[in-house]
Amino acid sequence: MADSDVRFVEIEKLLSCVHCGLCLPSCPTYLELGTEADSPRGRILLMRALEEGRLRPTPEVTRHLDSCLGCRACETACPSGVPYGSLIEAARPFVEEHRPPVARFLRWLLDSVLTQPTVRNVATAPLRLLAGKPWTARFARATSLSLLGYAAALPEWRGVTPLPPVIEPDRELRGTAVLLTGCVAHSSFPQTTVSIARLLARAGVRVLIPPDQGCCGALSLHLGNDTRSRDLALRLSRHVSEDEADWYVTTAAGCGAHLREYGTLLPNDSGAANIGAKARDPLDLLAELGLPAPQRPLKAKIAMHDPCHLLHGQGVKNAPRELLRQIPGAELVELAEAEICCGSAGTYNLTEPGTAGRLLTRKLADIRASGADIIAAANPGCLLQIRSGAILQNMPVQIAHPIDLLARAHGLGD
Ligand code: SF4
Ligand code: SF4
Repeated sequence: MADSDVRFVEIEKLLSCVHCGLCLPSCPTYLELGTEADSPRGRILLMRALEEGRLRPTPEVTRHLDSCLGCRACETACPSGVPYGSLIEAARPFVEEHRPPVARFLRWLLDSVLTQPTVRNVATAPLRLLAGKPWTARFARATSLSLLGYAAALPEWRGVTPLPPVIEPDRELRGTAVLLTGCVAHSSFPQTTVSIARLLARAGVRVLIPPDQGCCGALSLHLGNDTRSRDLALRLSRHVSEDEADWYVTTAAGCGAHLREYGTLLPNDSGAANIGAKARDPLDLLAELGLPAPQRPLKAKIAMHDPCHLLHGQGVKNAPRELLRQIPGAELVELAEAEICCGSAGTYNLTEPGTAGRLLTRKLADIRASGADIIAAANPGCLLQIRSGAILQNMPVQIAHPIDLLARAHGLGD
């Protein structure tokens, strides 16, 4: 088939699925909804029919593709190497064009608010008054409003600590990292960015923080806006690509996984190729470089929730556990279904609240059964989702980014 005949993805990629079904038990939406069309295999068949023109993107077909979290658990499970993540990412912009105008506009609006720092700061200003306040949590429980739960789950707003453009290492230089600060993760959890900068410096890393950064484009792609996603990636590449950088790091696992794809997304941009080749999860990097022994004890049972874009998107599982185990007094326990999505998944909890809520309920039941005092989740979206659920259900459990737990143990955090 000539390239011009391709609707959204090369048919060969879709044909690589042999319909064995081995991915089904790993798929969170199949586990919850139990329908073949909400499984990886079913969605691949739908995408194939769309690509071959045998099916139109009707609301019914779009609903099954929308219900996919993009968590890529099926990719980890698939013995045939089906690149499911790139298939669904190609299908989303295609179905986007066939949505009713109002739905398209609302999704465009969400994309614009989340990916433009100035617009985002103005639009979310009222949230800052509610963020992290005990009365917001009480009000959220009384009304069962999940939006109030999210507001209560945010850290109390104390402004964004300005970071210098360069942070020199505390010990012998091991390399240079560019720290990304342009995204919603930094606006929502600014202290975590400060914590990782200090931890990297402690590990011997020179940290560069270029000014005027923007979003990496991951959220736009999730919302089916591939043009905007590429524009944002190009802009970021122009602003932050540095020859002297050894690594590019972000506290958001979803963004980290997206950065790794930059070389494929922008094949003609050398800056993007540089970022894609050097993107690295900061916990994975810290585990490799090593940190001095943490001095401050934390007597608590800690369980890890594995964010999809850390585990399935970047193949990182042991590094955060290894680092947390070094904290004196910390006892690591395993969480059942730690690898199953919590329902956050980029903007999924906003666009698909029903299924996201079911997955959150499942996660909270696993957390209760674990007996953990603290759940560590290395992605701001997961933090917000699980913490909001714990607040609404008045559960006595703390939900924290492992970076913040480590920073406190090293005397570097709040
Ligand atoms: S995606 Fe992979 S595991 Fe799932 S049905 Fe297809 S070949 Fe089998
Ligand atoms: S990406 Fe996640 S939700 Fe989507 S089909 Fe794969 S396992 Fe299921």
